[in-house]
Amino acid sequence: MHYVIIGGGITGTTAAEELRKLDSSAEITLISEEEHATYSRVLLPHYVRGKVPRERVFLKKEDWYEAQNIEWLRGETVVKIDPANTFVELSNGREISFDKLLIATGGEVKLIHDDVKGVSYFRTLDDTDHLVELLRALPKDARGGIYGGGFIACEYLNMFQTFQIPTTIAFRGEHFWSHTISKEAGMILNQHLEKNGVEIIANAKFERTVGEKVLEGFETTKGTHLCEILGIGLGIEPHFKFVSDAGIEVREGVVCDQYLETNIPNIFTGGDVAEFYDERYGRYIRAGNWMNAMTQGRLVARNMSGEKTAFDLVSSYATNALGLEIIFIGDTSREAAEETKLFGSVESGGVTELFVRNNQIVGAVLVGRNSDRTALTKLIQEKAKPEQFN
Ligand SMILES: Cc1cc2nc3c(=O)[nH]c(=O)nc-3n(C[C@H](O)[C@H](O)[C@H](O)COP(=O)(O)OP(=O)(O)OC[C@H]3O[C@@H](n4cnc5c(N)ncnc54)[C@H](O)[C@@H]3O)c2cc1C
Repeated sequence: MHYVIIGGGITGTTAAEELRKLDSSAEITLISEEEHATYSRVLLPHYVRGKVPRERVFLKKEDWYEAQNIEWLRGETVVKIDPANTFVELSNGREISFDKLLIATGGEVKLIHDDVKGVSYFRTLDDTDHLVELLRALPKDARGGIYGGGFIACEYLNMFQTFQIPTTIAFRGEHFWSHTISKEAGMILNQHLEKNGVEIIANAKFERTVGEKVLEGFETTKGTHLCEILGIGLGIEPHFKFVSDAGIEVREGVVCDQYLETNIPNIFTGGDVAEFYDERYGRYIRAGNWMNAMTQGRLVARNMSGEKTAFDLVSSYATNALGLEIIFIGDTSREAAEETKLFGSVESGGVTELFVRNNQIVGAVLVGRNSDRTALTKLIQEKAKPEQFN
């Protein structure tokens, strides 16, 4: 049996490790566009802040792959999948045949396509090394700019605070996660940031960077904002034309069933790139968090080797913005929810919002109320009714 895995992030690597445990004689090939051994993206902000040395972000040593008898093709990109003849093609033209294939390609940051020295993205270790370099080279009185209102924007806020860089943040909505969180949660966040000296430019559309060779600022529809470093946090998008070209169904992500198998037998997917059918929520969802990626990596390996177990996890993503805790649990799609219920208030400094479908709690967003986390995760797992939370 030859298993081929595209993507050497946490999903692909966990799957490779699990497949090796399940089958000591299988041939396993892990193809990874990045040159580095698997590392923790979660630890990258800690590395920038100097809390974790660079070598500690790695989850595997370079000799691990050989020791596991896993063929590791690093710095190689898959450009084509041929399901009928069961092979993938690399950008250098090499063809690799497979019996079972896993697509675990994550996502790539959305770019502003207007880069000058001083613009930073934050997805990969290479991005992070670049950011560390930019921060080191900043003059003492430098200003920081951020464009975006999601998880990565929070990371930039925390980082700039650590280095005492006065910050302007601009985003398209009224507040962070304007499509997901309530107005009240958004107000708490805005007030908290302003109290901490952050300048907020809401309802602003990015137009261009300012500066010929070196960044001097950025322009939005709300004006010009001066800064020497600009962090872009616009989210990720999968690059999967080569997947859809192969006849594999693709919507927001690579579509798969509850067993993480795509519409083409023996081709599976998992992690950030997957749009999977979740029986708990009764719909297809995408999840972009570490817990989901790792758990899917483990499960998909078992299903690739013949098991048939449905994916079932109430995953969550916890972060903070300058010390204010923000936690997303379960299915937090506002469009898919039939009803939402809000607890707490702006005045108290914390709100919890429940997302309800079929009279069942399917998700929750907590801002400044992390003490609700354990109880709510359990209630979502138990498919509880909203009145069971108080
Ligand atoms: C800075 C940062 C901090 C984060 N912090 C948290 C956190 O605190 N908590 C949390 O839950 N989540 C966090 N996340 C999100 C979490 O890291 C991701 O959900 C997780 O890493 C996704 O793993 P993955 O393996 O699915 O995808 P990825 O990690 O994106 O890995 C996919 C790999 O596939 C490679 N690839 C893509 N296309 C090809 C191709 N055609 N051929 C070969 N290789 C290819 C890519 O280069 C990449 O290396 C954070 C993310 C970032 C960037």
